[in-house]
Amino acid sequence: MKLLVVEDETKTADYLRQGLMEAGFVIDLARSGLDGHHLAMSETYDLIILDVMLPDVDGWRILQSLRESHKQVPVLFLTARDTVADRVKGLELGADDYLVKPFAFTELLARVRTLLRRGQTPANLELIQAADLVVDLPRRRATRSGQRLNLTNKEFALLELLLRRKGEVLPRSLIASQIWDMNFDSDTNVIDVAIRRLRAKIDDNFEPKLIHTVRGMGYMLDVPDTA
Ligand code: CA
Repeated sequence: MKLLVVEDETKTADYLRQGLMEAGFVIDLARSGLDGHHLAMSETYDLIILDVMLPDVDGWRILQSLRESHKQVPVLFLTARDTVADRVKGLELGADDYLVKPFAFTELLARVRTLLRRGQTPANLELIQAADLVVDLPRRRATRSGQRLNLTNKEFALLELLLRRKGEVLPRSLIASQIWDMNFDSDTNVIDVAIRRLRAKIDDNFEPKLIHTVRGMGYMLDVPDTA
């Protein structure tokens, strides 16, 4: 198992590397955000331990790049901060776990092992997101901008389908067969109604709008290019 540790404080970095090597892991250590960013994006790791406060490229930026490139490597955040806002930000960006400094090495090791175990059953490690919409599949939870969205089972399934095929126009017939297990009958407006309800929950109170109607073709979930 190969881990990347990104940590600029010499003592913490050396201590982590030593401890993790003794625990049997292969470790790459980056002592700056820039190096960490480069390694995270170019190499393959089983897990990344990421300090948030780095002098050049911070941990949030690194995590954001990873998730934008659809790299699903588990990320454990290390940080001296412990405010709710920071936690939420990290988790929204797709961090898998969070450890506040100072921490006991045994606790870090336990968290690392848990995340690695989770990673071995890929179906469980499913967090999909678009902009600030985050959908936690195993927990059946959706949030936008950190606010919990109350979705029915059908709405959740519809959102999952749209998210998994983000950027693709999905014809009504496809949505009908995937979500309602029925053949599409153009007389029925069940899909349009469901989309309208979902959109009210996902988009009405938030920006940017994510669910788009493509006239004559179907629906699409996408993050618009920022103006
Ligand atoms: Ca630091």
